[in-house]
Amino acid sequence: MKLILLGKPLSGKGTQAEFLSIKLNIKHVSTGELLRTEIKRKTDLGGKIAPLLAKGKLVPDIITFSVLKKNLPKKNFILDGFPRNLKQEKLLEKITNIDLVVDIACSDRTILKRAKSRFSCEKCGAIYGLNFPPKKKGICNTCKKELIRRPDDEPSTVKERLEVYRKLTFPLIDFYKKKKIYFFANGEKDVIKVQKQIIQKIEKIK
Ligand code: AMP
Repeated sequence: MKLILLGKPLSGKGTQAEFLSIKLNIKHVSTGELLRTEIKRKTDLGGKIAPLLAKGKLVPDIITFSVLKKNLPKKNFILDGFPRNLKQEKLLEKITNIDLVVDIACSDRTILKRAKSRFSCEKCGAIYGLNFPPKKKGICNTCKKELIRRPDDEPSTVKERLEVYRKLTFPLIDFYKKKKIYFFANGEKDVIKVQKQIIQKIEKIK
């Protein structure tokens, strides 16, 4: 199964991808995570792209694609965060074919509400939010370290990311509808209900 998860920032793509990855035993590939790893490792590339991520801008297509290509399995994968525009779709098409595109749809209002309450642990990367608050406010359940807000989760940056989504990523919906591999999932629902919608669809096409 080659699956793409499409959706606005903070729509829950990462959470659903993690769940599906375990349920279906398929690798989860997140371009956001791959790029953040470059930054954490302080590589040359990481240094170049850090300001872009902090501002909510897209990393140039060719750079993201080359990082993705090195990490994309041949057969089964759940791709989260790529493609983000039609040019990236064309690049992806050259190396693989996709079975299903799940769009986790959410309103901007919901996204901004989630951004305000989203914090993560710098040490282990755990993410806390409305649906999963830490046991002790501001402290990671596992590492007991203070939680931080990812620079790209700052409300002003989230607004910029939503604008980028609207201009560049949104046109992919029509593209995939025409290819008849598009599936709408209502991302306003709680995590479990979103999971159910996606699993039901996957069961149908398997
Ligand atoms: P995400 O974790 O998917 O929300 O991605 C976080 C950030 O990584 C984005 O705001 C972009 O700066 C960058 N990024 C992730 N995927 C891509 C992509 N496909 N193309 C360009 N930039 C990306």
